[in-house]
Amino acid sequence: MEDTPSENNIDISIVVPVYNEEESLPELEKAISKALSADYSYEIIFVDDGSSDKSWQQVLTMGAKKDFIHGIALSHNYGKSVALQAGFEKAQGKYVVTMDADLQDDPNEVPEMVQILKDGYDLVSGWKKERHDPISKTIPSKFFNFVTRKVAGIELHDFNCGLKAYRAEVVKNIYLYGELHRYIPMLAKREGYTRITEKVVTHHPRKYGKTKFGLSRFMNGFLDLITITFVQRYLQKPMHFFGTVGVLLLLAGGGINLYMALLKFVYGQGIGDRPLLFLGILLMVVGVQFFSTGLLGEMINKNNVKDQKPRIREVI
Ligand code: UDP
Ligand code: MG
Repeated sequence: MEDTPSENNIDISIVVPVYNEEESLPELEKAISKALSADYSYEIIFVDDGSSDKSWQQVLTMGAKKDFIHGIALSHNYGKSVALQAGFEKAQGKYVVTMDADLQDDPNEVPEMVQILKDGYDLVSGWKKERHDPISKTIPSKFFNFVTRKVAGIELHDFNCGLKAYRAEVVKNIYLYGELHRYIPMLAKREGYTRITEKVVTHHPRKYGKTKFGLSRFMNGFLDLITITFVQRYLQKPMHFFGTVGVLLLLAGGGINLYMALLKFVYGQGIGDRPLLFLGILLMVVGVQFFSTGLLGEMINKNNVKDQKPRIREVI
């Protein structure tokens, strides 16, 4: 299919999700411009995901000086997926590139990625082969990628890489919410965009600020679980809560029942009147209930999800 014609003849839209990255933004803009300005027309869309630092002021300052810089300020922190989705909707280029704001992704990779798209691919995912992140991130990430690769049937090594390039049509035909940014290649494939490949990309250590994801974020966020944030978050993603509880209960119940089976069949003990047996069965039954409640919630929610647009505070 032809590339989406764009009124403004913009070759590349760079979409950058921004959550408290004030120090990086001017440097990032310079690096992008240096990499692209000679050969391409481009725009940069910074999507401020409810930053509490001066990120948005930075975007406004840059946008006032340079007309290829655009910004969207979300009313509060919705998460990376929602930020990207807002950027995708505004993007006007023939090709859309996503890039993290923290200078870990290298804009110099963009021309080659775009060339791969021109050669006929729908999606090029970056592969941080030599990743500069702490081991607490790289090991879970290896596991995540292994599982996703198997489930998705897409041979990518680094699904979570923030640096990805798409033919515009791809991002216009998928819809991101929750934590779906990790699964864009799967969503694209489902829509029929099967020409998916990867490119090894340079990855820099984080220069300013700190990561918004990872163990510490989880721990710090723990208290939030009890607050309304928790309720709101899982109102949108029922499966995250009910599904997790369900799986945990199933595992616990399954473990107990396995132990019971061992007692009976290996050690020949009678287990008919053991309370533990009842507990095991109970946990499994409740686990299945929880899981299917989550699934049901998610299915009902899918239909409403497009109505849950983020509230945009300002656009430039
Ligand atoms: N980000 C965002 N909203 C969030 C968390 C992160 O827009 O709620 C942005 C963040 O500013 C960065 C990108 O998503 O541009 C990736 O975040 P981060 O660098 O913290 O993740 P990591 O590289 O450590 O996986
Ligand atoms: Mg990062």
